[in-house]
Amino acid sequence: MRMILVGPPGAGKGTQAARLVDTFRIPHISSGDMLRAAVKEGTPMGIEADHHMKLGHLVPDDVVIGMILERIAKPDCAAGFMLDGFPRTRPQAEALDAALATANVALDAVVLIEVPDTLLEERAIGRRTDPASGTIYHLKYNPPPADIVERLVHRKDDTVEAVATRTAKYHSDTAPIIPYYSDKGILKRVDGVGDPDVITQRITAALAH
Ligand code: AMP
Repeated sequence: MRMILVGPPGAGKGTQAARLVDTFRIPHISSGDMLRAAVKEGTPMGIEADHHMKLGHLVPDDVVIGMILERIAKPDCAAGFMLDGFPRTRPQAEALDAALATANVALDAVVLIEVPDTLLEERAIGRRTDPASGTIYHLKYNPPPADIVERLVHRKDDTVEAVATRTAKYHSDTAPIIPYYSDKGILKRVDGVGDPDVITQRITAALAH
């Protein structure tokens, strides 16, 4: 299964990806996680990405495309992968298609997790990540156990200002990939509002059709 999760910031892509890869037994490839790791390590790519990310802007296409194409060429992706946060622009979608065509493979599905803009700010402001396990919590909707609260991380770009910018970027730069995949007949729209377990079931059901 070669698939992509698309949705606005705070749609629940990371949360759902972590659950779905257990079912499908494919690597979860999050462009945001890879970029945050590069920032933490202080690599040249991380230094370049950091100032774009803090402001809620997109990292330039050539940087992200190179990073992801290199990752999906690794042996663990031979039987499939789940991309989370990539592609985020039309040139990224086209570069991915070209690379897959060269490898004689194709995408099976693109899942669009739909959440209204009015819910995105609260989701991001309350989001916390456990650096030890990578688990994503929400202070109100998916509260973490009390004994790990101290170590949880609040992302630098989960501020009111950066979320507004990221949401605007989603509509201007990422939304154009939706008709691109819809025209190919592989787009699955899923309602992303509700209990995370129910949303996982909706995605699984959509993928079965
Ligand atoms: P995410 O964890 O998916 O919300 O991504 C966090 C940030 O990383 C985004 O706001 C962008 O600055 C950057 N980023 C992640 N994926 C991409 C991508 N495919 N293209 C450009 N920038 C990206």
